[in-house]
Amino acid sequence: MDSKPCRQSLSTFIKRNATNGAQPSPAIVSAAKALFHKTSRSKKHNWEKGPLYVLLREHWQRYLESRQKNRDPKRGYLRPEIRNTFESFLQCGVLAHGVARFLCNTCGKQRLVPLSCRKRGLCSRCRQKNNAIWSEWVQNEVLPQVAYRQWVLSLPKCIRVFFRFDPTLKAKLSGIVFRVITDYIRIRFGRPDLIPLMITCDQSFGTLLDYSPHLHNLIADGGFTPEGKFVPLGKIPRRHQKELEELMRRRILTWLVRIGKISSTWAKTMRRWEHAGFSLHLETRIRADDRAGLGRLLNYMRRHPFSMRGIHYNPATQKIIYRASKIHGGKKRNFAIFTPTEFIAALSDHIPHRGKHEIRYYGAAHPQIRKRLFPNRSITKAVPVVEPLHIQKQGRRAWARWIWRIFEVDPLHCSCGGTLTLNAIVLNKESIRRILAHAGEPTEGPIMASARSPPLRPSVCPSAEVPTGTRFPPHSNQTTSIWRTIRPGLLLRVFRSP
Ligand SMILES: [Zn+2]
Ligand SMILES: [Zn+2]
Repeated sequence: MDSKPCRQSLSTFIKRNATNGAQPSPAIVSAAKALFHKTSRSKKHNWEKGPLYVLLREHWQRYLESRQKNRDPKRGYLRPEIRNTFESFLQCGVLAHGVARFLCNTCGKQRLVPLSCRKRGLCSRCRQKNNAIWSEWVQNEVLPQVAYRQWVLSLPKCIRVFFRFDPTLKAKLSGIVFRVITDYIRIRFGRPDLIPLMITCDQSFGTLLDYSPHLHNLIADGGFTPEGKFVPLGKIPRRHQKELEELMRRRILTWLVRIGKISSTWAKTMRRWEHAGFSLHLETRIRADDRAGLGRLLNYMRRHPFSMRGIHYNPATQKIIYRASKIHGGKKRNFAIFTPTEFIAALSDHIPHRGKHEIRYYGAAHPQIRKRLFPNRSITKAVPVVEPLHIQKQGRRAWARWIWRIFEVDPLHCSCGGTLTLNAIVLNKESIRRILAHAGEPTEGPIMASARSPPLRPSVCPSAEVPTGTRFPPHSNQTTSIWRTIRPGLLLRVFRSP
């Protein structure tokens, strides 16, 4: 299967659905592309040449050794899930680390599909897939067709450090936000029985990978009566927004004093500050009929901590430039320069703590209240999709179903007309090696650099000299084009231009 029919099928899908008024969201399309390429022979393995993969292959072992020996004063000990996530990322999508083997029930042809890591915080492909599935589920089964508003709560710098080491605090913080919203809606309508709806997504990152914990809250623009009837809130006046921000600031400071994170003197001082650093942004509003906009907002709320396209790694200078699409508020620029160690450390800040949820459901979005308020399981008008029976059997989370939904291409369809079925998931190294050798695929995964040998490589800068005795690692010519085309002096200007 090559990628050509996939594009044709996608355009047909969009055209056909445009007449019905429904279009797949960009995030779903990109997730499906990522999935599709996993099975496409032409695109396979290309991502291993990407700058993040190359960087981690060279520097992960060295970073791991230094973190195990020395305690990072800013980050403390290395959490086990960080190591697990980075090492799984390096194995994600590599056939040599595990394959699912599909066999055609008619001609016996086999198709090998690599396994994915399904880890949070580092692997953008797994996140895209997870996002697409979550977004569809939330739209179809959690969110009724009412207007929504996004409330973004940002915190001052001086209290962010508490959230770095104690992951339970974010859940308590979102509880405070929910209580403020409940009070506001009930007081405004004078009805103490109204139930708000809120979904909270934690985010830990700023524009340039800096640690900046904040909450994205999707809130129904009104409240539900105990019978499930929606009472719309309408416009929130500017002075109400200011009062809500002030109320949240007071409640959060009181809570931090109560749990012993800050002293009461410090809280009093912060209450007097004119710009205390708390900010509540609630300008983003989604109309009840704009389900495509709602899908985009959901994907934005749960977006990946960094952009793969923004990473530019120069193996010659051992520097990484991370480029963002927006200007950073504090740094007033849209790029940051890291050493490999700093960059890996910055990425590790955004890997969620083990067992801690990133999404929380409150009020009418909570499973128990939802069942009571909306007894019909499907509460929205989902676009009905006719899928072949063997695709339907794949269930909600299956990759084959997602490829079918977006591209109308059946990845389980064999060229002979038969159907491919899962024959085995092979994890044994020796068995994988034999299967790959038989199929003519590379039998080994990419080689990782050891912790101790610093790489010697030629510089790609035209003016730099190549030292005698330089070793040429196999991927030394895979530098990003940005380093070839931009002179150091031009860097600032080029990155600032839109
Ligand atoms: Zn066949
Ligand atoms: Zn992955």
